[in-house]
Amino acid sequence: MADSTPGAATRTPASSPAKEMDTDKLRFIEEVTTNADAMQERVLGEILARNAETEYLASKCGLAGATDRATFRAKVPMVEYEDLLPYIRRIANGDRSPILTGPGHPVTEFFTSSGTSGGERKLIPTVEDERHRSLLLGSLAMPVINQYVPGLDKGRGLYFHFVNLETKTPGGLLAQPVLTSLFKSDHFKKLPLSGALTSPVAAILCPNAFQSMYAQMLCGLCHRHDVVRVGATFASGVVRAITFFLDNWEKLAADIDAGTLADRITDPSVREAVAGVLRPDPELARFIRAEGYEGGGAGIIARIWPNTKYLDTIVTGSMAQYVPTLNHYSGGLPIFSTLYASSECAFGVNLSPMCDPSEVSYTIMPFMAYFEFLPVDGEARGDASQLVELAHVEAGREYELVITTYTGLNRYRVGDVLRVTGFHNAAPRFRFVRRKGVLLSVDADKTDQADLQRAVERAAALLRRHGGAIVVDYTSRACTKSFPGHYVIYWELLKAKGAQSGGGAAVDGDVLDRCCLEMEEALNWVYREGRVALCSIGPLEIRVVRSGTFQELADLAVSRGASAGQYKVPRCVTAPRIVELLDSRVVSSHLSPALPDWAPEMLSFSPKEKE
Ligand code: AMP
Repeated sequence: MADSTPGAATRTPASSPAKEMDTDKLRFIEEVTTNADAMQERVLGEILARNAETEYLASKCGLAGATDRATFRAKVPMVEYEDLLPYIRRIANGDRSPILTGPGHPVTEFFTSSGTSGGERKLIPTVEDERHRSLLLGSLAMPVINQYVPGLDKGRGLYFHFVNLETKTPGGLLAQPVLTSLFKSDHFKKLPLSGALTSPVAAILCPNAFQSMYAQMLCGLCHRHDVVRVGATFASGVVRAITFFLDNWEKLAADIDAGTLADRITDPSVREAVAGVLRPDPELARFIRAEGYEGGGAGIIARIWPNTKYLDTIVTGSMAQYVPTLNHYSGGLPIFSTLYASSECAFGVNLSPMCDPSEVSYTIMPFMAYFEFLPVDGEARGDASQLVELAHVEAGREYELVITTYTGLNRYRVGDVLRVTGFHNAAPRFRFVRRKGVLLSVDADKTDQADLQRAVERAAALLRRHGGAIVVDYTSRACTKSFPGHYVIYWELLKAKGAQSGGGAAVDGDVLDRCCLEMEEALNWVYREGRVALCSIGPLEIRVVRSGTFQELADLAVSRGASAGQYKVPRCVTAPRIVELLDSRVVSSHLSPALPDWAPEMLSFSPKEKE
């Protein structure tokens, strides 16, 4: 059933070329979602036709040129990245034979995913025309938003985007994060959107993270009245940018006062680009200093960029925990979480962008790849025979996403678990539930990202209510140094009012103790059994780290090759260097003062089963 949101495709007035383009895109969305199943059949046929002669599909799977669903289902196994690694390694080492993709569609580069395998980043192959499909999907977001927010074409977007230094595989193929690849491409420079950004391309492409951020912030400040939306790919990027402003406003104000960049920006192309924007503006400098002195940053986005209509950034999955901080900084501006994508493939668009961040669902676009879904609830066995096609998933159920792409991934498990929340025409809408995998375990307990997120959210709500502080960022680790082992949660805090940074001393210790217990109450039954009945888990500990610690973690990751634009705080840390860094920044630590509630599980046998 079609979404009953206002401004459906046919109702958009086509009075200008831009509006006509929007109308075309909205009509396209209606078409592909109405014909989702037929389109999926066509996409699978195309993928198999172009990749039929590959070593993988022909020799390994024995597909013998078939392009139909039935043969595909019978012959092609479901795989994980590790299964494809030997093939990927050969391509990376220079083997140009058709291994995963057909002769007319060689692998052109690798995207380095934020996912890892055996401690190394995953290398995801891509082909020339995949970018066109991804850009097509990306281009669907603005027409959807324009239906709800008029006048966006009159202003600019302040987006904080970053690139990584590219690397080459031994065989000479580029390996870089997907966003780096996009920003460096000619495609990006030609996008209508890129001309409507306040950040000069040279600033985005500057590999020095400080200089890039500084220049982007400076240009965003100079254009403050033109900015109609503020964003970054992930919510953590917006938070990082505002933190950067709060740490660097004096320098920014000085440069704006003088109308020239100080020597700290050394990249010549950045200097040249910023010189085209920067003029002496003492009034703006005064305003920035006043904002900086104010500290805390409550409502700062709406004040500095007063025409901002919304924040454009992903706030689902592990990014959900930034929503309170974004609200704090923006004074409650709407947040649009528009796209769901990965290095492997761009998946979907949020067709109801006005919804609350906790309600966001993405409609998978059936032209991107062939999508299958592995049930993870109910009778789930986890084998390929249970895979369900896109048009046949059931509302309310949870599935793991499995994709067959134009880029040589066949029945590949992405590792994301999604819940079907409804349909847009015949295409399902999905809520991102979690990334598969256990995060924390000290005994039989298994705490995954969703469990931990929920527990942190509950405790953070208590902290907001009784401690007057916000959890800006968090991570965790299972500490088994002493017996019984226990969970350690690292929190960086921000006082809701007044002081810019938070610390253990700034928040009542009793409240933080209660937060530990609140978190334990929210953790799963097996955890609480371990705590209460088995005594196999010790009291949960919160370690408050000083302001800026999570930025240091990000800097460390970026200095070691992570993408600044795609960086996501790991919700669990194990690397000794990172643990050491965190522990050296602890300002106070707190332990759960009591046992959480727990009662033996009531096994629910039906009367028949009992007999
Ligand atoms: P990467 O391969 O580094 O691009 O990371 C891709 C992964 O990031 C996806 O498989 C998801 O786990 C996560 N991700 C991407 N977009 C979203 C989104 N809109 N909501 C939640 N998680 C996302």
